Order: sequence, then structure tokens, then C-alpha cells
Amino acid sequence: MGTDLSQIRNIGIAAHIDAGKTTVTERILFYTGKNYKLGEVHEGTATMDFLQEEQERGITIQSAATTCPWTKDGVEYKINLIDTPGHVDFTIEVERSLRVLDGAVAVFDGKEGVEAQSETVWRQADRYKVPRLCFINKMDKLGADFEFSFRSIRKRLGANPIAVQYPIGFGNELEGIIDLLGMRAYYFDSDSQGAVVTEKDIPAHLAEKAAEWRHELVEKAAELDDNLMERYLEDESTITIDDIKKALRKGTIALQCNPVFCGSALKNIGVQRLLDGVIDYLPNPTQVPEVQGTNPRDKEQKLSRKHSNTEPFSALVFKVVSDTHGDLTYVRVYSGVLKKGTRLLNPVNGKREIASRIFEMHAKERVPLDEVGAGNIVAVVGIKDSITGDTLCDSDHPIVLERMDFPEPVISMSIEPNTADDKRKLSEALVTIRREDPSFRSEYNEETGQTIISGMGELHLEIIKNKLVRDMKVGVQVGQPRVSYREAIAGPATGCRGTFKKQTGGRGQFGDCTINIEPYTKEQAEADGLKFNDNVAFVNEVVGGAIPKEFIPSIEYGIRMTAKSGVSAGYPLIDIKVTLTDGKYHEVDSSQVAFEQAGRLALIEAVHKARSILLEPIMKVVILTPEDYFGNVTGDLASRRGMILEQEDRSGIKVITAEVPLSEMFGYTTVLRGLSQGRASNSMEFAKYAPMPMNLQKEVIAASAS
Ligand code: GDP
Repeated sequence: MGTDLSQIRNIGIAAHIDAGKTTVTERILFYTGKNYKLGEVHEGTATMDFLQEEQERGITIQSAATTCPWTKDGVEYKINLIDTPGHVDFTIEVERSLRVLDGAVAVFDGKEGVEAQSETVWRQADRYKVPRLCFINKMDKLGADFEFSFRSIRKRLGANPIAVQYPIGFGNELEGIIDLLGMRAYYFDSDSQGAVVTEKDIPAHLAEKAAEWRHELVEKAAELDDNLMERYLEDESTITIDDIKKALRKGTIALQCNPVFCGSALKNIGVQRLLDGVIDYLPNPTQVPEVQGTNPRDKEQKLSRKHSNTEPFSALVFKVVSDTHGDLTYVRVYSGVLKKGTRLLNPVNGKREIASRIFEMHAKERVPLDEVGAGNIVAVVGIKDSITGDTLCDSDHPIVLERMDFPEPVISMSIEPNTADDKRKLSEALVTIRREDPSFRSEYNEETGQTIISGMGELHLEIIKNKLVRDMKVGVQVGQPRVSYREAIAGPATGCRGTFKKQTGGRGQFGDCTINIEPYTKEQAEADGLKFNDNVAFVNEVVGGAIPKEFIPSIEYGIRMTAKSGVSAGYPLIDIKVTLTDGKYHEVDSSQVAFEQAGRLALIEAVHKARSILLEPIMKVVILTPEDYFGNVTGDLASRRGMILEQEDRSGIKVITAEVPLSEMFGYTTVLRGLSQGRASNSMEFAKYAPMPMNLQKEVIAASAS
């Protein structure tokens, strides 16, 4: 194990597509890769070597986590680079990586500054309280503008950016980077792919600019620390580089500021200094809050674990990758030590697991480990029944770490195997896909013999279909994608009674209960401390034996099952609180089954009284279109019941943010191409469920009945 926790950084690169995440990642692997012989690169065939290596790395950069050794000031650090996808359609992938990393580098395009999609990624990182550095990339691009990009971070993200670097030139003229702390210039030798770095004085024509930016840097660092502020006010010149670094580190970890770096990944300028920045400013695993969880034997009991090897073992599974040599289960170890061959508990499903082998994943190789301690990220082989989001822990000290929030699937599709052989292959394939991707669901319908798969969007289902058919070679017929609606109630209803009575010769069946029902939200449930499984809260107010205690869970079960399958149109009933107020029982005839049925009948009665409404998924859609097609695009959005939330001009490009019902968005990417001669692009993610217009609601209910 060896590594001191202060020498670990678990980070991700947060960027939307095209900002340069892949290129930055490749450069990081290149400069940190133990196996890359830079010597060879010097000798003539430089570009070829690099390209070939780039291709090989193309595979490794998709690794869920890669360990990169990085030496700074004589100390060897371990940077675990966690893959974060850039496509907003895969919010879930972004969420799960944000969950296990301690800090991130947000990459921006130096010409565009903050773009609409950078905002989405930034807000997600906000939600998980991830400390961030900013890297203004592509400073070599024609029209790149450091100051504009820097300001857009403040203006559009509401962040507190603090520049620690300034570029030497821009566009074709980009030569290097000025470090505003040390006030030195750095040049990156292009023959060695930037591996050879030369330090020089700041060029004379930038001396004044650098002094201005340094002044701002010192002032903003001082604002982060009261002691430093006092000294700053007395005499700015007493403030050392170390003072500034400490204040920035503290501020970054406390989410009060974002140090800003710049460069060009493509031209190999600035990446090593960014890695130094990761060490200097992003937290080590002990500097983030202790991990929280609950006791699986008593869900009310909150537990936490310190980031320490002496605590009982706990880890979170954040990605499962199927591999012909056995699945790789990526875990973040939060506490304790995991030894090779140890038995573990998955407290979520109660299964025992064995970590038969442990690997640290490097760019080009897997390094087998005998054991791994807190704060580390590794891939484990041997885990069979654990999926993304599950906890693995010491069986004597069980803990369920806070689960990741997976949004409900909003779209579904039927799928039927062609042959009996395909049927067998399909069920195996679905288990595999589900293990890798918990935002995907599948359910087998006995009656129709169909399997229904559901996911986060049309694209998500498309990818799953391709995986089944192309990669896993399962022969299937798929149906049209269908929207997953939800049912809710318009208002409260009281005194709703369900009586189940059956006389069949000998012993009869009898159960009777009365309930109140009201609209209720997750936030309310949290405030009231009520469980909100499947978005339904249940409260028992029956006292004094109107119904014997042992039947109460049966009533709850009946209600929950009925809510799950829906009352009006076969879609889950959500966001309700059901209060059991009264009931009756019979000495002989009452049974669990009878009370389940009574619960079911009472809920149906309640939903009719309270008036049912159908909710439909609304997507947040961001569209980029050249101005010429703006009218076409907005006109079309209006015909899709779209609501435009924001529009913005960006050098001839219009950026439209709108909310549109998912049911209106099937095949939209193709339509948009048609509207704009192929020039507009869009991205989509789930925003919320909202009530449907009455006429459409009727159509859906009628369709479900037929
Ligand atoms: P990703 O989609 O965020 O992973 O971005 P990529 O790394 O694939 O980069 C998108 C495009 O931008 C590619 O064509 C890259 O060659 C280009 N690119 C990346 N970094 C730079 C840079 O520093 N300067 C310039 N000019 N182009 C870059």
C-alpha cells in the first residue's frame, strides 16, 4: 500500500463534448505514463510514435479509472483519473463518477468560454460539492481569448475564478504560460511533445499584464483568509508564494474559489503545470467529509466511516465492466483495508462476495495488488452479484453507503427474442447490461411473453438495442419506444373505504380499512422523516385494535402494490401520502390476503375521489443553431408544446434552452437536421414530470385500456 493518503488525488475531468477532454486525458497519461519512453520519441519518428501510442491510449482513456503517478517536488503522488462522460444524455454516468471523486478539472474551450453544456456539467459538480480547477484549453485556436473565457466563468457560472496563469500569446502565436505565483514564464518544447519544459523570465511585453493579474491573484487569495488579508492590507510584499498556495488550497476545498489554468492540450502546452495544480489545490481523500451510510439491520441508524485504514472496510461500487476474463468491478475504498481473497458482504442484497484479485489500473497495464487501503480506487475481479451503486463492506461491520440517485426511466420499449436460443441469450445479456448500467431496467411480462426494457431516453434505448444485437448477437424484434407516464392525484380525499368480503363455503375472507390520501413530495417526506419508497408514504394512525397489528403491513403491501401498477392507466401512482385511519376485522375470516385486498380497494376508491392526473416526462433541450434557422427551430418547438426558457447569441449561433414533453421529441435529431440543413445540434436530458393536458391524458388512458 505504502502511499500516504495525502499523496492521493481522486479526480475527474468535467467537460462537455468537444472541449478537449480526450486530448487533455491523453496528455495526462502521456506525461505520467511510466511506460512511455520519451527518449524514443526524441529520435526522429516522434510524431508516429506518439500517434501510435495515442491510438493505444484511445482504449485506456475509456477505463473507468486510471492511476497516474506524478512526482512533484520530489514526492511521488498518485492521481486516480476517473472517467466522466461528456454527453448530457448520460447524466447518470456523470453522476456516478462525481460521487466517487474528490475534485475535478473543468475544461473550457478558450475561444467559446463557458458554453451552455459546460453549465450543465458545472451544476452537477455543484450538486455533489466537488472542488474544481478550471483549465482554459485551446488557447492556440484562432480567436482564443483568455480574458473573455475567464470572465465567462464568473458571469455564467457565478463562480469565483482566480487566475494562477496567463498565456504567452494566443492563437498561432501561443508560446507558453506565465505562472502568476512565481512570476516565471514556461515554454514547452514541441519536439519532445512538450515533455521538455524551459523556465525563463517573463517576456518584457507581458510584464505589465502579468503584474496586474498577479495583483488580482494576491488580493483574491487574501479575501479567502483573514490573516492573509491583514497582512495584505499592511504590506502586500510580505506575502509569499506559499501563503497564496495555502489560501487557494483552502478556498478551493471549501468551494469558495476556482484556480484557473490555461494552455493547449493539442499543442502540448501547460498540461504538466495543470497536474501540479491538481496536487497543489485539489483535496486528498482525507479532506472531504466522512462517508455517510446506514446500518442495514436498522435503517434508521446513521453510520459514518473515517477515511482511515484502521476503520472497518467499506467501499462503493461505481462501475462494472464485463470482460471475457471476468468482470471488473471498480470500487472506491472509503475506509479500512481490502486484502486479496477476502470475503465481503454486499449489505444491499445480502450476498457474500470474494475479492479474488485486486488491480490498480494504469494506462497500459493492470498492476496486481495484495491489498488496498482507504482513499484508493481499484478494480476488483471475483465480484458476482454487485452492481453500480452497491456497497461492499466488512461482514462484521455492515454499512450501506448512501446510494446514488438514479433517475426513473422515462421511456420503454418491448423486445422479443426470435428463437428459444435467443430467449436464453437475452435473459443473460439483460443481466449483464443491468450490472453495467443501473439506469437501465428490464421486466418480463408473463402474459404477453414480452420483455419491456426502459431507460433514460431514445438514444439510451438505441444504444442498448445495438449492444444486444451487434455486440452480444442476440436475435430480437423491438417495438416502438413508448413514454413512461406517471399517475398522481389532483387533491386530497378522506374516508376512503375498502371492504373485501368473500364467502366460499367454509371459512370466508374478510378485511376492511379506511384511508385518507393526499398529494405529497419527497421533500415533505424528508421533512416529516417518513419513508418514501417508490414515492409513496404510508402512515398508520389506527390505535386501540380496530385492526390487529399483524394485518397493518398487509394493508400497506396491498396499497404499495396497487400504486406500483397504477389505478387509471397502468402507470405507477406516485407522490402520495396514505394515512390508515380505521378498519374492521373478523375473528375467524380475517387474513393477510384479505387485508391486502382491502388496501387495494381503498386506494382505488381514494384515487377516484381525489381525481387522478397523468404526468408526463418533460425534457430539458438545448439547441445550437445558426441564426438563419432560428425561426424554423423555434416554430417547430412551439408545435411540440415546447416552452423556451432562454435564448442567447454566441457569435452568430443561437443557443436555445427549452422544456419539451418527451412524447413530442421522438426522432427529433433527424427533424432538426432537416430544419437546419444539418447545421443545428441538440442535447436532451430529463427535467421533471408535469401534468398532461386533459385531452392528451384521455388519449393515453384510452390507449392503455385497448
Ligand atoms: P472531447 O470531446 O471533450 O473529448 O474533446 P476532444 O479531446 O476529442 O477534442 C475535440 C476537438 O478539439 C478535437 O478535434 C481536438 O483535436 C480539438 N482540441 C482538443 N484540444 C485542443 C487544443 O488545445 N487546441 C485546439 N486547437 N484544438 C484542440
